[in-house]
Amino acid sequence: MFSCHTDSPAETAALAELVGKKVHEGTVFCLEGDLGAGKTLFVQSLAHTLGVTGEVTSPTFNLMNVYEGICPIFHFDLYRLESAEELEDIGFFEYTEDPEGIVLIEWADKFPECLPENYVRLCIEHDPAEENGRIFTFTSIGSQQQKLVEELGRLVHTGN
Ligand code: ADP
Ligand code: MG
Repeated sequence: MFSCHTDSPAETAALAELVGKKVHEGTVFCLEGDLGAGKTLFVQSLAHTLGVTGEVTSPTFNLMNVYEGICPIFHFDLYRLESAEELEDIGFFEYTEDPEGIVLIEWADKFPECLPENYVRLCIEHDPAEENGRIFTFTSIGSQQQKLVEELGRLVHTGN
């Protein structure tokens, strides 16, 4: 687990770019944080780093967007989702088990029982001391993403 801080949207975008350099197929990111924390902004920059050229928008109403980058990228937003059954309907469980895709889930913590065994949990909090400050905490859940989280921590804190 590690934490880091950003002071602006641009810094959050740069953090997502760093993450994009290490992330590989078969990784699920679960993003937690209040409205306006920066989840979508982080996803946008990460998707662009992963080779997506078109617009990346929040799938609040349609629940999921699929983008083509270095691999298929599945972007979920569970904010408006009311029941776990709907996840079944949109094929959520096939996507989160897909070893060839990268899955990014906003508001994942609304349905903790539906999350896969292994994922990177990313909590974004407002820094109470600074209007545009955000605190990012990366945690590996399950053993499979532990190495990735360690590598990310090193990259973010030491630059390599
Ligand atoms: P979420 O998806 O978590 O609801 P968004 O990414 O849509 O949040 O919006 C984040 C908002 O906060 C944007 O308007 C952005 O400009 C603003 N913001 C201010 N400071 C930051 C920061 N350090 N990181 C990310 N967003 C920030
Ligand atoms: Mg959002």
